[in-house]
Amino acid sequence: MIATPTNNGREWTIDSVREALAAKRISARELTAEFCQRIERRNRELSAYLALSPERAYRQADYLDGLVARGEDLPGLAGLPLAVKDVLSTRGIVTTCASRILENYRPPFDATAVERLERAGAILLGKTNCDEFAMGGSNENSAYGPVRNPVAMDRVPGGSSGGSAAAVAAGMAVAALGTDTGGSVRQPGSFCGIPAMMPTYGRVSRYGLIAFASSLDRVGPLARNVRDLALIMGTIAGGDPMDSTAAAVPVPDYLHGLDAPVKGLRIGVPTDYFAEGLDSAVREKIETGISLLEQLGCLRTDLRMPHTEYAVATYYLIATAEASSNLARYDGVRYGMRVPGGTLIEMYRKTRGAGFGAEVKRRIMLGTYALSAGYYDAYYLKAQRVRALIAHDFAEAFEQVDAIVTPTSPVPAFLLGERTSDPLAMYLADIYTVTGSLAGVPGISVPCGKTREGLPVGLQIFGQPFGEARVLQLAQAFEKAGGAQV
Ligand code: GLN
Repeated sequence: MIATPTNNGREWTIDSVREALAAKRISARELTAEFCQRIERRNRELSAYLALSPERAYRQADYLDGLVARGEDLPGLAGLPLAVKDVLSTRGIVTTCASRILENYRPPFDATAVERLERAGAILLGKTNCDEFAMGGSNENSAYGPVRNPVAMDRVPGGSSGGSAAAVAAGMAVAALGTDTGGSVRQPGSFCGIPAMMPTYGRVSRYGLIAFASSLDRVGPLARNVRDLALIMGTIAGGDPMDSTAAAVPVPDYLHGLDAPVKGLRIGVPTDYFAEGLDSAVREKIETGISLLEQLGCLRTDLRMPHTEYAVATYYLIATAEASSNLARYDGVRYGMRVPGGTLIEMYRKTRGAGFGAEVKRRIMLGTYALSAGYYDAYYLKAQRVRALIAHDFAEAFEQVDAIVTPTSPVPAFLLGERTSDPLAMYLADIYTVTGSLAGVPGISVPCGKTREGLPVGLQIFGQPFGEARVLQLAQAFEKAGGAQV
């Protein structure tokens, strides 16, 4: 059940919040109080937020109310009640990555994406639960307990950005930031029935995003509608002197052309994504969703992306290799918790033993193994080569089509606890999202009907590198045509 926000009975959106503030129908303080109350009412059962930041939220609200009182222009996202995944650094606010090892860590700076949203008027409500260090697809790997899916309380919200998705779906935020390394924005968006976007690698600065796998990590928004995703993308995208991998490619106005007709656009449907393992109810919804795009005038081409079957293995070698290197910094010396020991090595061992959860340890071991002498060529180097082939599949497809359309996940939200004992089954469910992650292309998940049990299905749309505008346009057309109800 989704809570209905009180904006004359309608859901708040970025535009309606800003208009209500400008028209003095509500003050930013009242709006903030309303969202704090909603969080208080629902967070105990959902566990979507790990920490709240009321002082910072009210400070921003007072600033905005001051602008209104003085009759000054409001910034573009004025009053947006925002939730931020707990792997994004927030100055002075505890940032744990849902790990014990960072349980008391307060970053001295803000992530660029957070800073840009606040500068545009967003109100930071708090930090959201996730899989520990973003490693997972169900949110069950959080050291602080799982998140429940607000659409079906006995089910997972997806992961790793499960708290961000649940917060938005339950009306405890109007939008949220998540991070996507192998599907962690798109898949929870699909499980909770909201649109969610992974930008091109390098489109949004990673400064302040606590690293899991640096060549894959991206910051992306989750919201109630595609237009809000476009507004957020326009705010957070663009180069950043603090991140040399943030590309200085000019950021287009994502609202321009958002509502343009999609007639004549060529959509590719890779047959490789409709093979064994795809749930029949999901398949049916996706086929209906693709027909809807065809009714809007899109031209469908079935195509092959032959290296898709290697994507999961490739992803789990590269992601774990990079993670084992990135997580070496948590040694009890520089950040977070320390468990004392008689010798330096003992201190490391005890700190990391107590500070990291089982999945994080598993990945550090896998990654260390893949990078070790004698195995590096056989595993890591081979994976890098296959990654290039997967990227090539995308490049070839984009010679024929404007976008690639697939399911976001082979299954809808599963039951809490259903898959925790089988990590491999959990990894295999990432099959449709990790391909685009490895290729660096942008992708969105947009609601595409519900199964008979009422579980949301997500349609994934991939675009060309830096082609977010096209992806948003297709998703917008799909949403407007009633895609969520197919
Ligand atoms: N489920 C994938 C994993 O466990 C993706 C995680 C992510 O995108 N952060 O690695």
